[in-house]
Amino acid sequence: MTQRLSDDNCIFCRIESGVLDAEVVYQDDVCFAIRDINPAAPVHLLVIPRKHFTYLADLTIFDHTMLGSMFEAAVEAASAAGIDDTGYRLVINQGNDAGQQVAHLHLHVLGGERLGGMR
Ligand code: 5GP
Ligand code: ZN
Repeated sequence: MTQRLSDDNCIFCRIESGVLDAEVVYQDDVCFAIRDINPAAPVHLLVIPRKHFTYLADLTIFDHTMLGSMFEAAVEAASAAGIDDTGYRLVINQGNDAGQQVAHLHLHVLGGERLGGMR
């Protein structure tokens, strides 16, 4: 099963429930945003749905509102981090070839400097 309320073995579910610490920079009813522990840019945030979804590819039409909320949260979190004027990049890694490390859907928000090419 890839969609559940929470998974005790999942790092992001553990952060959501407060078992693990993280610097939360934005939160709403659907998502929260934290600073990435190993930043790839001066500002590197992760927008994480509170509910556990493993992969982007698992989402159905019933999850589109949640997906929209993730993008809205990314815009708000970027603004809170002060990179709304300078710009930012949003990335979702899907599966092995993209290097997805954490099997809980999340959106990377990268900015704070002029970013390089797409790879
Ligand atoms: P993925 O490669 O799955 O798209 O991205 C997972 C991201 O989560 C990585 O950039 C990694 O640095 C970050 N990460 C992994 N574990 C933790 C953690 O415990 N806390 C925080 N804040 N970030 C984490
Ligand atoms: Zn999870």
